[in-house]
Amino acid sequence: MQAQQNKVQLPQIHGPSEQDEKAPGPFLAPDKRVGYAIVGLGRLSINQILPAFGHSQYCRVTALVSGDREKARRIGAQYGVPEASLYSYADYERLADNKDVQVIYIVLPNGMHEEYVLRGAKTGKHILCEKPMATSSAEARRMIDACTKANVKLMIAYRQQYEPHNRMLQKMAKDGKLGKLRGFLSTNSQQQGDLSQWRLKKSLAGGGCLPDVGLYCINAARFLSGQEPVRVSAQLWQPKDDPRFHEVEASVSFSMHFANGFQATCTTSYDAHKSQTLRLEGTDAWAELSPAFAYHGNKLRVSQLEDGKEVVIEPQVEEKDQFALEMDHFSSCILEGKEPHTPGEEGLQDHRIMEAIYEAARTGRTVDVAGLSGKTRGPEPEESGS
Ligand code: NAD
Repeated sequence: MQAQQNKVQLPQIHGPSEQDEKAPGPFLAPDKRVGYAIVGLGRLSINQILPAFGHSQYCRVTALVSGDREKARRIGAQYGVPEASLYSYADYERLADNKDVQVIYIVLPNGMHEEYVLRGAKTGKHILCEKPMATSSAEARRMIDACTKANVKLMIAYRQQYEPHNRMLQKMAKDGKLGKLRGFLSTNSQQQGDLSQWRLKKSLAGGGCLPDVGLYCINAARFLSGQEPVRVSAQLWQPKDDPRFHEVEASVSFSMHFANGFQATCTTSYDAHKSQTLRLEGTDAWAELSPAFAYHGNKLRVSQLEDGKEVVIEPQVEEKDQFALEMDHFSSCILEGKEPHTPGEEGLQDHRIMEAIYEAARTGRTVDVAGLSGKTRGPEPEESGS
């Protein structure tokens, strides 16, 4: 990476018993950074993604796409996006002519992802798309095919795969620190309010809690174990007397069975107080993240036998802006011509699994997950971030 040449690291002044002080960066100069067009100025864009540009090493925001011109103008004024680089959904295709845009980041309701990926691919820009990738595996397949045809990169924004605590746990599991992996327990729940929101409308959301928050449990079981489920079983709850759940489910509990005996048991709900945990159990130790999927404040605990005694340690992991890490990873893939760590295939596989979970809940049977041919992830992201 070109920025590495300009890295400045001052000599350490503390004794060898102290942790090294790391200089932030190196940063790419503004005019060398990868330019992002943010499509959809809702909660995630305004509260998380746009502020993350301030922590990024390789990215800058260069365009905004919104149905509300005045909101776009105000946000543009905060982030230095000129009036000429504000677009409506109708003139979205004009991004093709904006030389300051290399990436289109789609942060719209799930049911709009396919349309905006397909239209976006035609502009020749690379695409970062929020999770869940789509509302079905068929849509996800078409999105991958459109990006392949247009010769643009497609990455799905699985932020937890770039988040330092989750990454540390993944490395521990991969290095055999927990022994052989046997079990995974996880929950991701939150209490939904506002009846009018798109998350409660099937056509815009694709489902209820499962694709929105339960997805984190599915994806974590897969990336932390490095394995794929072969069968699922599930129970679903959709209370008829609660107007929030006329179209989508309130809760799902599901199990995923892996070929070598590894089992994942998960719950997800739109009608329980916020709860985000996971525990990975191995033959020699267990490790827990609680919270596991938070924007800030994730915590790792590991329990193992030491000198004949059970000890629980809390490895200290430096917190970094996971949205900046995720976008920097995609930018480095573009600058260096690499495959993203979480390409479209990663999102497609989660859709296949969610479809099997819905089918298992509907029929009361164990359902096979449609066969996977080939890998779903690109190379591990390099450690970066400031
Ligand atoms: P939001 O409702 O806050 O924002 C959605 C935006 O889309 C709004 O600006 C809205 O005006 C616009 N929009 C355009 N057409 C619309 C329509 N027909 N109906 C509703 N809104 C429309 O939603 P959000 O929480 O920002 O979620 C956006 C995407 O980001 C979703 O795919 C969601 O799953 C994902 N998300 C990811 C994370 C994460 O941690 N990675 C967190 C939250 C949301």
